[in-house]
Amino acid sequence: MQSAILKSHLALLGSRVADIVSPRDCVHCGEAAGESYRWLCEECAQKLPLIPSDKPRCALCGKPFEGSVQTERICPNCVEIKPKWERGSTLMMYEGVGETIVRRIKFHGERCLLEDVRHMLRERPDLAPMLRGATLIPVPLHSLRLRERGFNQSEWLARAFAKESGASCQNLLVRKRDTGTQTALSRQERLKNMRGAFALRKGTQIGTEQRYVLIDDVITTGATLNACADALVRAGAHSPSVLTLAHA
Ligand SMILES: [Zn+2]
Repeated sequence: MQSAILKSHLALLGSRVADIVSPRDCVHCGEAAGESYRWLCEECAQKLPLIPSDKPRCALCGKPFEGSVQTERICPNCVEIKPKWERGSTLMMYEGVGETIVRRIKFHGERCLLEDVRHMLRERPDLAPMLRGATLIPVPLHSLRLRERGFNQSEWLARAFAKESGASCQNLLVRKRDTGTQTALSRQERLKNMRGAFALRKGTQIGTEQRYVLIDDVITTGATLNACADALVRAGAHSPSVLTLAHA
C-alpha cells in the first residue's frame, strides 16, 4: 500500500522515474507488477474475475449465468427487488483479486488503481453505447460518512468511467439519511432500510431527454441502487441505467 501511495505522488514526475524510485508491486500478492495491469502481477491479472462481454448475464445487474443461456434473462434477485432502473451491468465479480481492488480503493483510498479500472472498462466495448453521451451519477455517501472517509469511491469510479467513455459526471443525488451498514440485513430489510434515503440535490435538474447511469463500487442486493434510481425517476429521469465495478 505504501508503494501505491508513494506512486500516486510520484506520478507527477512521470511513470518511468516513478518505476525506478518505487518499483510497482501487485496489490493482491505483493509480487512485481506486470505489463497488462499497472498494479497486478501477470498471474493475478489472469485471475481477475472479469465478466467477458460475450457471457450471458442478467440484463439488470450484469451477474453472469452459468451454462448456455440464449435469451435475455433476469436473475432471481432482480426479479425479487423489481429494479427501478432499465438496464445494468458490472465489470467483475466481487471475489479474489477483484475484491482486493474494490477494498483497496474503498478502504485505503488508493486512487492510482483507477488506472486499472479504466483498463477493465476498455475490455468491455459492449458498454460503450450505454455510456457515451450519458451523465454518470455516483451513489452518494451521507455527508457525515464523506467527512469521515474524505472521499466517495463511487464518485472516483464515475469520474474514471466518464473520462474513459466520453460521458459526463454529475453529483445529482444526496443521501438524506445515514443508513448504516446493511451487511446483517436480509434483502427485504435492506429494501425497507433504503426506502426514501436519497433525493435530488437542491439546485440541480433532471433533463427528461438525458440518459443517466448510476455508478457504484459493489452491487449486492441492489437495494441502494434501487433507492437512487427511485429518486431519479421521481425527479423525472427517463429509464436510468446502472453500472458497478463488482457484483457480490
Ligand atoms: Zn440481476
